[in-house]
Amino acid sequence: MLVIMKDHASAGDVQHVVDLLEEAGAEAHLSRGEVKTIIGVIGDREVIYSLEFEGLSGVEQVIRVLKPFKLVGRDFQPEDTVVDLGKTAVGGGAFAVIAGPCSIESEAQMFACARAVKASGATMLRGGAFKPRSSPYAFQGMGVEGLRLLRAAGDEVGLPVVTEVLDVRDAVVVAEYADVLQVGARNMQNFMMLEELGTMQRPVLLKRGLSATIEELLSAAEYILKGGNRDVILCERGIRTFETYTRNTLDLSAVAALKSLTHLPVVVDPSHATGRRDLIGPMSRAAVAAGSDGLMIEVHPDPEHARCDGPQSLTPEDFDLLMDDLGPRIVLEGKTVEVSG
Ligand code: PEP
Ligand code: MN
Repeated sequence: MLVIMKDHASAGDVQHVVDLLEEAGAEAHLSRGEVKTIIGVIGDREVIYSLEFEGLSGVEQVIRVLKPFKLVGRDFQPEDTVVDLGKTAVGGGAFAVIAGPCSIESEAQMFACARAVKASGATMLRGGAFKPRSSPYAFQGMGVEGLRLLRAAGDEVGLPVVTEVLDVRDAVVVAEYADVLQVGARNMQNFMMLEELGTMQRPVLLKRGLSATIEELLSAAEYILKGGNRDVILCERGIRTFETYTRNTLDLSAVAALKSLTHLPVVVDPSHATGRRDLIGPMSRAAVAAGSDGLMIEVHPDPEHARCDGPQSLTPEDFDLLMDDLGPRIVLEGKTVEVSG
């Protein structure tokens, strides 16, 4: 970290910063120019990040050179993390296709979805049992009964299942049914929940917050790894911009950037990113080309009657066509889509 003092900052102001640094156990290295003094700070990452020198008398700017994350970084672990789900994997060349309805609505709907997506080559089954809805009057999901249906449908077709943990109080029950615990965009910075999931033995699918930066997404993942859980899959699901034609704006540059910054697998959700069925195909192809390790796509047997997110859900027929189209593109990127059994 560098603390840049204002032009002609007083000796007292400089000394005050040095004293605070030494008190905190960090080393201060002064370089004094004719008008400016710059203080280089060396020490423990956690100590340095706890220091907030902005606003101190005589301080002009504080520049943090260290990244606020460590365990998720490629510096810490150069090789890709492969999240092993038994029947399938994500990362390190294993491409995941996570498909299923936005929300679990009934036994018939969930099983129809599961059979269809499995037949088309999906590697994981999704479905929301606890739904984060903007309106408290909208369908909130089937809860534990939904978890049971998702698990049963996944078991029947032989696919691992992923579903959202909406509240830290539900983490244990969701983990009883799900192979992967999803943290939704609205919970990306629910630090208590991230800490809790860090102590659990279940892979986590961490979705990027609606207005979270790449660094904030990685810092959120760091919370989970810091707790001991190394199995985190990141998900780019679009961010809020001024654009209203699409539900969100798919930030594909984040995928490429994340792939170089972190060893964690990165998947793309073109359903929530665009909100539009017609854009799922083009954005899926783009995600594959950008280097993503997977896709999460909403599929519903009858999207017009879906209780949630019908307009951004593919029919099983369209999903099947898309899978045929994506297959060779995924191979071209040197990846495989596989599920055993
Ligand atoms: C979802 O995947 O069901 C979901 C609610 O997505 P997000 O958290 O990205 O809005
Ligand atoms: Mn949805």
